[in-house]
Amino acid sequence: MRALVVEDEPKLAGLLKRGLTEDGHVADVAPSGEDAVWMALSAPYDVIVLDVMLPGIDGFATCRELRKREVWTPVLMLTARDAVEDRVEGLDTGADDYLVKPFSFAELVARLRALARRAPVERPSVVAVGDLRLDPAARRAWRGDMELELSAKEFALLELFMRRPGVTLSREHLLEGAWDIAYEHRSNIVDVYVRYLRAKVDRPFDRNAIETVRGTGYRLREDGG
Ligand code: CA
Repeated sequence: MRALVVEDEPKLAGLLKRGLTEDGHVADVAPSGEDAVWMALSAPYDVIVLDVMLPGIDGFATCRELRKREVWTPVLMLTARDAVEDRVEGLDTGADDYLVKPFSFAELVARLRALARRAPVERPSVVAVGDLRLDPAARRAWRGDMELELSAKEFALLELFMRRPGVTLSREHLLEGAWDIAYEHRSNIVDVYVRYLRAKVDRPFDRNAIETVRGTGYRLREDGG
């Protein structure tokens, strides 16, 4: 899951980013609502964690602006106050869920997972392509009856492929979907990880599911190889 954390307090922002990363997700931090809007427009996020109290435009205005620009990524709002009016205003501006500070990290992650599952595009709880199966919430994947031992990045890549079987995905698309923005100009890392992924998903089974599309990128065969 790729999350955008919108929080101006460096300590909390850092804590959330680290926690999400350790949990196997990708997290970018936007220190203001304005930054959040352009980041959400330029990269595909599965969820947005949005603090209400921000410098410049606040969380409500940020959420309204995102929806106005047709960003439909699920938004979880964070607030220090448990006022009913705040909750109502948050939901009115197009937020999907609400969490009051201080919150437990475990609860935040559980809510984010639930939100990512009901993202704008219908997401089945287990994705299947041929005899490949992947459970995003449980972070497990199988080839037939064999469970695949994948690293967090390998899992993220396989998930991207399995959500678009038969479609050629560019290195840039794969990079955006599975890595932090900081890696934007290191597209050879995609080739390295595709090699790792093939060594686990294809080679032991004598299959060839992940195809190289010369000069463009990679594609997962619709029949799963
Ligand atoms: Ca704040």
